[in-house]
Amino acid sequence: MNEAIQNGFVPPVGCGFTPSTSSQFKSACTARTDSYGTDCFNPTSAAGTNNIDPACSVMSTPVPACGTTFKVPIAITVFEDPAWAGSNYLDFTNCGGGSSSGFVPLTDADIDTKIAELNAVYCNANMEFYECKTRQRVNDPDLYNWFDDPSDPENGINDDDESAAYDNANVIDIYFVGGINGDHDCAGTTGYARLPPSRDYFLMVYRGTFGTTFEHEFGHYFGLAHTHYNTVLINPQTGNPGVDNPDTNPVTQPENTDPSNCGCLTTDDRICDTWPDPNFAAVAMSNCSFSSPPQPALPINPNLGTQTTGVFNPLCAEPVSTVLLSNIMGYNQFQGCRTTFSPCQLNKIQDALFNCRSNLCCDDPIQYFAAGTESVEICAGDPAPIFTANTDCVDWYGQAIAGTALASGVTTFAPTIGTGIGQLDNMTAGSYSFYVQDRNAFGDCRT
Ligand SMILES: [Zn+2]
Repeated sequence: MNEAIQNGFVPPVGCGFTPSTSSQFKSACTARTDSYGTDCFNPTSAAGTNNIDPACSVMSTPVPACGTTFKVPIAITVFEDPAWAGSNYLDFTNCGGGSSSGFVPLTDADIDTKIAELNAVYCNANMEFYECKTRQRVNDPDLYNWFDDPSDPENGINDDDESAAYDNANVIDIYFVGGINGDHDCAGTTGYARLPPSRDYFLMVYRGTFGTTFEHEFGHYFGLAHTHYNTVLINPQTGNPGVDNPDTNPVTQPENTDPSNCGCLTTDDRICDTWPDPNFAAVAMSNCSFSSPPQPALPINPNLGTQTTGVFNPLCAEPVSTVLLSNIMGYNQFQGCRTTFSPCQLNKIQDALFNCRSNLCCDDPIQYFAAGTESVEICAGDPAPIFTANTDCVDWYGQAIAGTALASGVTTFAPTIGTGIGQLDNMTAGSYSFYVQDRNAFGDCRT
């Protein structure tokens, strides 16, 4: 119900997306700055082909029989302050609802639902996020009342920097907090993320489990810009220019004003199947279409395009779309309208995973073994232990840095006794590590 309230009462789309204050933007990964699509691709140029730009596609997994998605590890940490007395994320006073104050926990059920929704959308990039680490709830009033600048009333230290102490290496850390810079109610910034290459984390307020801002921040994390990237903020209904889009930092792009969408490879967000976007932040279109006469005239009608299910990726229930107002990376203020990525955005997301986020991997066996069975003690002369995973869609590895799997596609694994690489020397005391990994896992943590 809370999400319905938010969708109905013009929620803030707010995505802070603050420019980095550190060196996080200085190095490069090519997927972030590459262009995607075919120059001059536009809503009418591909009639009969469902408007899917032929230049954009996604890779399949190495073992389709074990699933069609690359498994990408995440870790969720929820910061809490049970003594909090201020407003909370269910306070809709500013959004057409009632007031609410005091600490209200974010439920596991809401987080579970959000992850399922996330995966339904990212299915079209052949990606699936899973919790590699046990979900954490941390009583930390300082980080619950999040300040990403030194004005933090708790200790005068930037919480964005402080939170790094909670990071899990090579996993996407998602931090849920009560509010950002003192704003805890229904309005204001919902979260922010950094473009790659950068620290593997992003921030959400509890309210980020509503709407699609969660999917939106993942988009930034994988290098997507807003669809209004580097356009001057103009109210399409009044034509009044506003402030510059903060997303222009640090790279600027010219705006595409060609009604045929030519120049899309070098302008705007450099993604050809997202049309030039004037930034819809200043207007709310509850029917999810651009119903007013375009003022000023827009290069391409944002209602045009095609939404298709099962054509770009036949295995996904959620659609892909080239309708600008449906795009998750836009700023249409009605969150219920932002439901899809375009095929070329999905192409870029997957490229960024492999090109810019290639360090991601999961070193925690919790998802493969029943608790406590991943470690076995044996005495000299004992036979090798038998490890049993909960699926046969795994590869088994020895300790070597490189090398092929010792066994694949089997539920049980017993190391070979011996002194060679990948073998268990049961006559020499010590700790021997073997690695198990989903056959479609993204990344490899062996060192
Ligand atoms: Zn954003």
